[in-house]
Amino acid sequence: MKVHEYQAKEIFAKHGVAVPKGRVASTPAEARAIAEELGGKVVVKAQIHAGGRGKGRLVNEDETSSMYENLTNDPDNYSGQVVGDRVGGVRLANSVDEAEQAADAILGKFLVSIQTGTAGKLVKNVLVEEQSAVANEMYLAIIMDGVEAAPLIMASTEGGQEIEEVARRDPDAIVRIPVNPAAGYESYISRTLANRLGLSGQQAVDLGVLVQSLYDASLANDASQAEINPLVVTEDGRVIALDAKFSVDDNALFRHEEVAEMRDKDEEDPLEVLAGDLGVSNFIKLDGNIGCIVNGAGLAMATMDTIKLAGGEPANFLDIGTVNDPQRVVNAIRVISEDPSVEAILVNIFGGMARVDIIAQGVIDAEKQLGLKVPVVMRLVGTNLAEGEKLLEDAGLDVIRAEGLGEAAEKVVAAAG
Ligand code: GDP
Ligand code: MN
Repeated sequence: MKVHEYQAKEIFAKHGVAVPKGRVASTPAEARAIAEELGGKVVVKAQIHAGGRGKGRLVNEDETSSMYENLTNDPDNYSGQVVGDRVGGVRLANSVDEAEQAADAILGKFLVSIQTGTAGKLVKNVLVEEQSAVANEMYLAIIMDGVEAAPLIMASTEGGQEIEEVARRDPDAIVRIPVNPAAGYESYISRTLANRLGLSGQQAVDLGVLVQSLYDASLANDASQAEINPLVVTEDGRVIALDAKFSVDDNALFRHEEVAEMRDKDEEDPLEVLAGDLGVSNFIKLDGNIGCIVNGAGLAMATMDTIKLAGGEPANFLDIGTVNDPQRVVNAIRVISEDPSVEAILVNIFGGMARVDIIAQGVIDAEKQLGLKVPVVMRLVGTNLAEGEKLLEDAGLDVIRAEGLGEAAEKVVAAAG
Protein backbone atom coordinates (compact mmCIF):
# COMPACT_ATOMS: atom_id res chain seq x y z
CA MET A 1 0.00 0.00 0.00
CA LYS A 2 1.30 3.42 -0.98
CA VAL A 3 0.80 6.57 1.07
CA HIS A 4 0.82 10.20 -0.03
CA GLU A 5 3.96 12.34 0.18
CA TYR A 6 2.63 14.32 3.18
CA GLN A 7 1.90 11.08 5.03
CA ALA A 8 5.31 9.64 4.15
CA LYS A 9 6.92 12.79 5.52
CA GLU A 10 4.92 12.47 8.77
CA ILE A 11 6.27 8.94 9.15
CA PHE A 12 9.79 10.06 8.22
CA ALA A 13 9.73 12.94 10.70
CA LYS A 14 8.59 10.65 13.49
CA HIS A 15 11.73 8.55 12.97
CA GLY A 16 14.08 11.52 12.70
CA VAL A 17 14.40 12.02 8.94
CA ALA A 18 14.82 15.76 8.26
CA VAL A 19 11.89 17.09 6.17
CA PRO A 20 10.73 20.64 5.35
CA LYS A 21 8.05 22.16 7.62
CA GLY A 22 4.61 21.96 6.09
CA ARG A 23 1.00 20.74 6.22
CA VAL A 24 -1.67 19.41 3.91
CA ALA A 25 -4.57 21.54 2.62
CA SER A 26 -7.74 20.74 0.71
CA THR A 27 -8.81 24.31 -0.17
CA PRO A 28 -6.96 27.39 -1.48
CA ALA A 29 -7.92 29.27 1.72
CA GLU A 30 -6.34 26.59 3.87
CA ALA A 31 -3.24 26.65 1.67
CA ARG A 32 -3.07 30.41 2.18
CA ALA A 33 -3.31 30.05 5.95
CA ILE A 34 -0.50 27.50 6.02
CA ALA A 35 1.65 29.70 3.75
CA GLU A 36 1.06 32.55 6.21
CA GLU A 37 2.30 30.41 9.12
CA LEU A 38 5.38 29.46 7.10
CA GLY A 39 6.26 33.03 6.19
CA GLY A 40 4.91 33.16 2.63
CA LYS A 41 7.75 31.58 0.67
CA VAL A 42 6.42 28.07 0.06
CA VAL A 43 6.13 25.23 -2.39
CA VAL A 44 2.64 23.89 -3.22
CA LYS A 45 2.55 20.22 -4.17
CA ALA A 46 -0.26 18.08 -5.60
CA GLN A 47 -0.81 14.95 -3.51
CA ILE A 48 -1.36 11.93 -5.74
CA HIS A 49 0.10 8.41 -5.66
CA ALA A 50 2.36 8.93 -8.67
CA GLY A 51 5.64 10.63 -9.31
CA GLY A 52 6.72 13.00 -12.05
CA ARG A 53 4.31 15.60 -10.66
CA GLY A 54 6.57 18.59 -11.22
CA LYS A 55 6.81 17.83 -14.92
CA GLY A 56 3.16 16.74 -15.11
CA ARG A 57 0.29 18.97 -16.24
CA LEU A 58 -3.12 19.89 -14.83
CA VAL A 59 -6.15 19.46 -17.06
CA ASN A 60 -9.88 18.74 -16.98
CA GLU A 61 -11.07 15.14 -16.93
CA ASP A 62 -11.83 15.03 -20.68
CA GLU A 63 -8.34 16.25 -21.61
CA THR A 64 -6.22 13.71 -19.75
CA SER A 65 -5.44 11.30 -22.59
CA SER A 66 -4.50 13.98 -25.10
CA MET A 67 -2.23 15.61 -22.51
CA TYR A 68 -0.68 12.24 -21.72
CA GLU A 69 0.12 11.85 -25.40
CA ASN A 70 1.64 15.35 -25.57
CA LEU A 71 3.79 14.72 -22.49
CA THR A 72 5.04 11.43 -23.94
CA ASN A 73 5.70 12.67 -27.48
CA ASP A 74 6.89 16.22 -26.91
CA PRO A 75 8.08 16.67 -23.32
CA ASP A 76 10.18 19.76 -24.14
CA ASN A 77 7.11 21.75 -25.11
CA TYR A 78 4.61 20.31 -22.65
CA SER A 79 6.34 19.40 -19.36
CA GLY A 80 5.14 21.36 -16.36
CA GLN A 81 7.40 23.92 -14.66
CA VAL A 82 7.83 24.75 -10.97
CA VAL A 83 7.97 28.41 -12.00
CA GLY A 84 6.76 29.53 -15.42
CA ASP A 85 3.68 29.39 -17.62
CA ARG A 86 3.25 25.65 -17.81
CA VAL A 87 1.70 24.89 -14.46
CA GLY A 88 2.47 21.40 -13.17
CA GLY A 89 1.81 19.60 -9.90
CA VAL A 90 4.65 21.30 -7.98
CA ARG A 91 4.75 25.13 -7.79
CA LEU A 92 7.05 27.54 -6.04
CA ALA A 93 5.13 30.47 -4.50
CA ASN A 94 6.80 33.59 -3.12
CA SER A 95 3.84 35.08 -1.25
CA VAL A 96 0.62 34.00 0.44
CA ASP A 97 -1.30 35.27 -2.63
CA GLU A 98 0.80 33.14 -4.95
CA ALA A 99 0.38 30.14 -2.64
CA GLU A 100 -3.41 30.53 -2.74
CA GLN A 101 -3.36 30.90 -6.53
CA ALA A 102 -1.15 27.83 -6.94
CA ALA A 103 -3.46 25.76 -4.74
CA ASP A 104 -6.45 27.05 -6.70
CA ALA A 105 -4.81 26.02 -9.98
CA ILE A 106 -3.96 22.53 -8.71
CA LEU A 107 -6.93 21.45 -6.55
CA GLY A 108 -9.85 19.78 -8.29
CA LYS A 109 -7.90 19.34 -11.52
CA PHE A 110 -6.59 16.10 -13.02
CA LEU A 111 -2.83 15.83 -12.87
CA VAL A 112 -1.31 13.92 -15.76
CA SER A 113 2.31 12.79 -15.48
CA ILE A 114 4.24 10.09 -17.28
CA GLN A 115 3.55 7.93 -14.25
CA THR A 116 -0.21 8.44 -13.93
CA GLY A 117 -1.23 6.78 -17.18
CA THR A 118 -3.73 8.28 -19.60
CA ALA A 119 -6.50 8.79 -17.01
CA GLY A 120 -4.45 11.13 -14.80
CA LYS A 121 -5.31 11.55 -11.12
CA LEU A 122 -7.79 13.91 -9.49
CA VAL A 123 -5.98 16.18 -7.01
CA LYS A 124 -7.87 16.41 -3.70
CA ASN A 125 -5.08 17.79 -1.53
CA VAL A 126 -1.94 19.87 -1.72
CA LEU A 127 1.06 19.87 0.59
CA VAL A 128 2.16 23.39 1.47
CA GLU A 129 5.78 23.43 2.59
CA GLU A 130 8.46 25.97 3.38
CA GLN A 131 10.53 26.57 0.24
CA SER A 132 14.06 25.22 0.28
CA ALA A 133 16.98 26.84 -1.52
CA VAL A 134 18.45 23.82 -3.26
CA ALA A 135 22.22 23.57 -3.74
CA ASN A 136 22.45 19.90 -4.69
CA GLU A 137 19.90 17.20 -5.61
CA MET A 138 20.64 13.54 -4.84
CA TYR A 139 18.74 10.24 -4.74
CA LEU A 140 18.21 7.89 -1.80
CA ALA A 141 16.05 4.80 -1.43
CA ILE A 142 15.69 1.72 0.74
CA ILE A 143 13.87 -1.21 -0.79
CA MET A 144 13.20 -4.70 0.51
CA ASP A 145 15.18 -6.63 -2.06
CA GLY A 146 13.88 -10.11 -2.86
CA VAL A 147 17.09 -11.20 -4.57
CA GLU A 148 19.37 -10.13 -1.71
CA ALA A 149 16.73 -11.18 0.83
CA ALA A 150 17.71 -8.03 2.70
CA PRO A 151 17.02 -4.31 2.78
CA LEU A 152 18.97 -2.62 -0.01
CA ILE A 153 20.10 0.99 0.24
CA MET A 154 20.46 2.81 -3.06
CA ALA A 155 21.91 6.28 -3.53
CA SER A 156 23.08 8.49 -6.36
CA THR A 157 24.39 11.97 -7.01
CA GLU A 158 21.94 12.02 -9.96
CA GLY A 159 18.85 13.16 -8.04
CA GLY A 160 15.67 14.88 -9.13
CA GLN A 161 15.30 12.78 -12.26
CA GLU A 162 13.85 9.37 -12.95
CA ILE A 163 16.15 6.79 -11.39
CA GLU A 164 15.24 4.19 -14.03
CA GLU A 165 16.63 6.62 -16.62
CA VAL A 166 19.86 7.05 -14.59
CA ALA A 167 20.16 3.26 -14.24
CA ARG A 168 19.92 2.85 -18.03
CA ARG A 169 22.32 5.66 -18.88
CA ASP A 170 24.96 5.09 -16.22
CA PRO A 171 24.42 2.10 -13.90
CA ASP A 172 27.63 2.96 -12.00
CA ALA A 173 26.06 6.25 -10.89
CA ILE A 174 23.92 4.27 -8.42
CA VAL A 175 25.53 2.97 -5.21
CA ARG A 176 23.93 -0.21 -3.84
CA ILE A 177 24.55 -1.36 -0.28
CA PRO A 178 22.65 -4.38 1.10
CA VAL A 179 22.11 -4.33 4.86
CA ASN A 180 22.81 -7.54 6.72
CA PRO A 181 19.47 -8.03 8.52
CA ALA A 182 21.14 -9.81 11.46
CA ALA A 183 23.65 -7.01 12.03
CA GLY A 184 21.21 -4.20 11.24
CA TYR A 185 22.34 -0.74 10.19
CA GLU A 186 26.10 -0.30 10.62
CA SER A 187 27.97 2.98 10.68
CA TYR A 188 30.28 2.07 7.78
CA ILE A 189 27.20 2.41 5.54
CA SER A 190 26.91 6.10 6.44
CA ARG A 191 30.60 6.69 5.74
CA THR A 192 30.45 4.85 2.40
CA LEU A 193 27.38 6.79 1.29
CA ALA A 194 28.80 10.18 2.33
CA ASN A 195 31.97 9.36 0.44
CA ARG A 196 30.15 8.28 -2.72
CA LEU A 197 27.79 11.27 -2.60
CA GLY A 198 30.70 13.66 -2.04
CA LEU A 199 29.56 14.95 1.36
CA SER A 200 31.94 15.70 4.22
CA GLY A 201 32.01 17.29 7.67
CA GLN A 202 28.66 18.10 9.26
CA GLN A 203 26.78 17.20 6.04
CA ALA A 204 28.24 13.67 6.15
CA VAL A 205 27.11 13.37 9.78
CA ASP A 206 23.62 14.65 8.92
CA LEU A 207 23.37 12.28 5.97
CA GLY A 208 24.24 9.35 8.27
CA VAL A 209 21.50 10.32 10.73
CA LEU A 210 19.01 10.70 7.89
CA VAL A 211 19.79 7.33 6.26
CA GLN A 212 19.71 5.48 9.57
CA SER A 213 16.40 7.17 10.45
CA LEU A 214 14.97 6.19 7.07
CA TYR A 215 16.14 2.64 7.71
CA ASP A 216 14.37 2.67 11.09
CA ALA A 217 11.17 4.03 9.51
CA SER A 218 11.27 1.29 6.86
CA LEU A 219 11.86 -1.58 9.23
CA ALA A 220 9.39 -0.33 11.85
CA ASN A 221 6.62 -0.22 9.22
CA ASP A 222 7.46 -3.26 7.07
CA ALA A 223 8.02 -0.93 4.14
CA SER A 224 8.67 -2.47 0.75
CA GLN A 225 10.00 0.84 -0.52
CA ALA A 226 11.08 4.20 0.90
CA GLU A 227 12.35 6.70 -1.64
CA ILE A 228 13.63 10.26 -1.40
CA ASN A 229 14.07 11.89 -4.79
CA PRO A 230 15.46 14.44 -4.47
CA LEU A 231 17.38 14.30 -1.25
CA VAL A 232 18.91 17.78 -1.15
CA VAL A 233 21.66 19.81 0.38
CA THR A 234 20.29 23.32 0.90
CA GLU A 235 22.20 26.56 0.30
CA ASP A 236 22.61 26.84 4.06
CA GLY A 237 24.07 23.34 4.26
CA ARG A 238 21.20 21.22 5.61
CA VAL A 239 20.51 17.71 4.30
CA ILE A 240 16.75 17.18 3.89
CA ALA A 241 14.15 14.99 2.16
CA LEU A 242 12.46 17.23 -0.40
CA ASP A 243 10.24 14.48 -1.78
CA ALA A 244 9.01 11.24 -0.15
CA LYS A 245 7.55 7.96 -1.34
CA PHE A 246 6.64 5.14 1.02
CA SER A 247 4.97 1.76 0.43
CA VAL A 248 4.10 -0.76 3.10
CA ASP A 249 3.77 -4.50 2.48
CA ASP A 250 0.01 -5.22 2.32
CA ASN A 251 0.49 -8.45 4.23
CA ALA A 252 1.93 -6.56 7.20
CA LEU A 253 -0.69 -3.79 7.30
CA PHE A 254 -2.61 -5.52 10.07
CA ARG A 255 0.18 -4.66 12.50
CA HIS A 256 0.51 -1.02 11.41
CA GLU A 257 -2.88 0.47 12.20
CA GLU A 258 -1.70 4.05 11.88
CA VAL A 259 -0.35 3.46 8.38
CA ALA A 260 -3.39 1.38 7.40
CA GLU A 261 -5.55 4.41 8.21
CA MET A 262 -3.59 6.43 5.66
CA ARG A 263 -5.02 4.34 2.85
CA ASP A 264 -6.58 6.36 0.02
CA LYS A 265 -8.83 4.03 -1.95
CA ASP A 266 -9.41 6.71 -4.59
CA GLU A 267 -5.81 6.18 -5.66
CA GLU A 268 -6.18 2.45 -6.18
CA ASP A 269 -7.68 0.49 -9.04
CA PRO A 270 -11.46 0.33 -8.35
CA LEU A 271 -11.67 -3.35 -9.29
CA GLU A 272 -8.82 -4.18 -6.92
CA VAL A 273 -10.57 -2.23 -4.15
CA LEU A 274 -13.82 -4.14 -4.79
CA ALA A 275 -11.87 -7.43 -4.80
CA GLY A 276 -10.25 -6.53 -1.48
CA ASP A 277 -13.60 -5.56 0.03
CA LEU A 278 -15.13 -8.87 -1.09
CA GLY A 279 -12.24 -10.92 0.31
CA VAL A 280 -10.92 -11.85 -3.14
CA SER A 281 -7.46 -10.92 -2.02
CA ASN A 282 -5.15 -12.08 -4.77
CA PHE A 283 -6.55 -10.03 -7.65
CA ILE A 284 -4.61 -7.86 -10.05
CA LYS A 285 -6.31 -6.05 -12.91
CA LEU A 286 -4.68 -6.40 -16.33
CA ASP A 287 -5.45 -5.00 -19.78
CA GLY A 288 -6.86 -7.99 -21.73
CA ASN A 289 -10.41 -9.31 -22.26
CA ILE A 290 -10.28 -12.81 -20.73
CA GLY A 291 -11.21 -13.03 -17.06
CA CYS A 292 -9.39 -15.76 -15.12
CA ILE A 293 -10.44 -17.67 -12.02
CA VAL A 294 -7.72 -20.05 -10.91
CA ASN A 295 -6.62 -21.71 -7.67
CA GLY A 296 -2.95 -21.27 -6.86
CA ALA A 297 -0.59 -18.50 -7.89
CA GLY A 298 1.61 -20.82 -9.97
CA LEU A 299 -1.37 -22.22 -11.86
CA ALA A 300 -2.67 -18.68 -12.35
CA MET A 301 0.65 -17.67 -13.95
CA ALA A 302 0.65 -20.80 -16.15
CA THR A 303 -2.96 -20.11 -17.15
CA MET A 304 -2.14 -16.56 -18.21
CA ASP A 305 0.85 -17.82 -20.22
CA THR A 306 -1.30 -20.42 -21.95
CA ILE A 307 -3.97 -17.84 -22.80
CA LYS A 308 -1.26 -15.69 -24.38
CA LEU A 309 0.10 -18.70 -26.25
CA ALA A 310 -3.39 -19.24 -27.67
CA GLY A 311 -3.39 -15.63 -28.89
CA GLY A 312 -5.45 -14.06 -26.09
CA GLU A 313 -4.85 -11.49 -23.37
CA PRO A 314 -5.81 -12.04 -19.70
CA ALA A 315 -7.96 -9.35 -18.06
CA ASN A 316 -6.71 -10.19 -14.60
CA PHE A 317 -4.60 -12.33 -12.37
CA LEU A 318 -6.75 -14.06 -9.76
CA ASP A 319 -5.65 -16.72 -7.33
CA ILE A 320 -8.84 -17.78 -5.61
CA GLY A 321 -6.87 -19.91 -3.15
CA THR A 322 -8.16 -23.00 -1.37
CA VAL A 323 -11.89 -22.45 -1.74
CA ASN A 324 -14.21 -23.90 0.85
CA ASP A 325 -17.12 -21.53 0.29
CA PRO A 326 -19.07 -21.16 -2.99
CA GLN A 327 -19.68 -17.47 -2.19
CA ARG A 328 -15.94 -16.81 -2.70
CA VAL A 329 -16.39 -18.01 -6.29
CA VAL A 330 -19.47 -15.81 -6.73
CA ASN A 331 -17.50 -12.82 -5.43
CA ALA A 332 -14.62 -13.55 -7.79
CA ILE A 333 -17.02 -13.73 -10.76
CA ARG A 334 -18.66 -10.51 -9.56
CA VAL A 335 -15.32 -8.65 -9.53
CA ILE A 336 -14.43 -9.94 -12.98
CA SER A 337 -17.89 -9.11 -14.35
CA GLU A 338 -17.51 -5.50 -13.18
CA ASP A 339 -14.69 -5.11 -15.70
CA PRO A 340 -16.31 -3.92 -18.95
CA SER A 341 -13.44 -5.25 -21.06
CA VAL A 342 -14.06 -8.88 -20.06
CA GLU A 343 -15.58 -10.87 -22.94
CA ALA A 344 -15.13 -14.42 -21.66
CA ILE A 345 -14.14 -16.11 -18.39
CA LEU A 346 -11.84 -19.09 -17.91
CA VAL A 347 -12.27 -21.10 -14.71
CA ASN A 348 -9.22 -23.33 -14.35
CA ILE A 349 -9.24 -25.44 -11.21
CA PHE A 350 -6.83 -28.11 -10.10
CA GLY A 351 -8.71 -29.57 -7.15
CA GLY A 352 -6.49 -30.56 -4.28
CA MET A 353 -7.41 -29.10 -0.92
CA ALA A 354 -9.84 -27.00 -2.95
CA ARG A 355 -12.85 -29.07 -4.04
CA VAL A 356 -14.17 -29.04 -7.58
CA ASP A 357 -17.80 -29.39 -6.37
CA ILE A 358 -17.48 -26.20 -4.29
CA ILE A 359 -16.22 -24.35 -7.37
CA ALA A 360 -19.03 -25.77 -9.50
CA GLN A 361 -21.59 -24.73 -6.88
CA GLY A 362 -20.05 -21.25 -6.87
CA VAL A 363 -20.44 -20.87 -10.61
CA ILE A 364 -24.05 -22.11 -10.39
CA ASP A 365 -24.75 -19.61 -7.58
CA ALA A 366 -23.13 -16.84 -9.62
CA GLU A 367 -25.49 -17.59 -12.51
CA LYS A 368 -28.45 -17.34 -10.07
CA GLN A 369 -27.23 -14.22 -8.25
CA LEU A 370 -25.62 -12.24 -11.05
CA GLY A 371 -26.45 -13.96 -14.33
CA LEU A 372 -23.41 -14.98 -16.35
CA LYS A 373 -23.18 -12.25 -18.97
CA VAL A 374 -20.23 -13.62 -20.93
CA PRO A 375 -19.26 -17.16 -22.04
CA VAL A 376 -17.62 -19.24 -19.31
CA VAL A 377 -15.09 -21.97 -20.09
CA MET A 378 -14.45 -24.47 -17.28
CA ARG A 379 -11.50 -26.77 -17.01
CA LEU A 380 -11.82 -28.90 -13.89
CA VAL A 381 -9.65 -31.70 -12.52
CA GLY A 382 -9.00 -33.21 -9.10
CA THR A 383 -10.84 -33.63 -5.83
CA ASN A 384 -14.61 -34.26 -6.11
CA LEU A 385 -14.60 -33.86 -9.89
CA ALA A 386 -17.51 -36.31 -10.33
CA GLU A 387 -19.62 -34.48 -7.73
CA GLY A 388 -18.85 -31.17 -9.40
CA GLU A 389 -19.78 -32.46 -12.84
CA LYS A 390 -23.07 -33.81 -11.50
CA LEU A 391 -23.91 -30.43 -9.98
CA LEU A 392 -23.24 -28.66 -13.28
CA GLU A 393 -25.30 -31.22 -15.18
CA ASP A 394 -28.26 -31.07 -12.77
CA ALA A 395 -28.24 -27.28 -12.89
CA GLY A 396 -28.19 -27.40 -16.70
CA LEU A 397 -25.61 -24.64 -16.65
CA ASP A 398 -24.59 -23.33 -20.06
CA VAL A 399 -20.79 -23.45 -19.78
CA ILE A 400 -18.12 -24.59 -22.21
CA ARG A 401 -16.15 -27.55 -20.87
CA ALA A 402 -12.53 -28.36 -21.63
CA GLU A 403 -10.29 -31.28 -20.65
CA GLY A 404 -6.78 -29.90 -20.91
CA LEU A 405 -5.38 -26.43 -20.25
CA GLY A 406 -4.34 -25.89 -23.88
CA GLU A 407 -7.83 -26.78 -25.08
CA ALA A 408 -9.39 -24.52 -22.44
CA ALA A 409 -7.21 -21.59 -23.50
CA GLU A 410 -8.11 -22.06 -27.17
CA LYS A 411 -11.82 -22.29 -26.36
CA VAL A 412 -11.84 -19.18 -24.18
CA VAL A 413 -9.87 -17.16 -26.74
CA ALA A 414 -12.40 -18.21 -29.40
CA ALA A 415 -15.33 -17.40 -27.08
CA ALA A 416 -13.91 -13.93 -26.41
CA GLY A 417 -13.76 -13.31 -30.14
P1 GDP B 1 7.91 14.87 -8.33
O1 GDP B 1 8.02 15.67 -9.58
O2 GDP B 1 6.58 14.19 -8.20
O3 GDP B 1 9.04 13.91 -8.17
O4 GDP B 1 7.96 15.91 -7.10
P2 GDP B 1 9.21 16.50 -6.29
O5 GDP B 1 8.81 16.67 -4.89
O6 GDP B 1 10.43 15.69 -6.52
O7 GDP B 1 9.40 17.94 -6.94
C1 GDP B 1 9.84 18.12 -8.26
C2 GDP B 1 10.98 19.09 -8.32
O8 GDP B 1 10.57 20.36 -7.85
C3 GDP B 1 12.18 18.73 -7.47
O9 GDP B 1 13.05 17.83 -8.11
C4 GDP B 1 12.81 20.08 -7.23
O10 GDP B 1 13.70 20.36 -8.31
C5 GDP B 1 11.64 21.03 -7.28
N1 GDP B 1 11.30 21.47 -5.93
C6 GDP B 1 10.45 20.90 -5.06
N2 GDP B 1 10.42 21.55 -3.88
C7 GDP B 1 11.31 22.57 -4.00
C8 GDP B 1 11.77 23.61 -3.12
O11 GDP B 1 11.36 23.74 -1.97
N3 GDP B 1 12.69 24.48 -3.62
C9 GDP B 1 13.20 24.35 -4.88
N4 GDP B 1 14.10 25.22 -5.27
N5 GDP B 1 12.81 23.39 -5.72
C10 GDP B 1 11.87 22.52 -5.29
MN1 MN C 1 10.46 13.53 -6.80
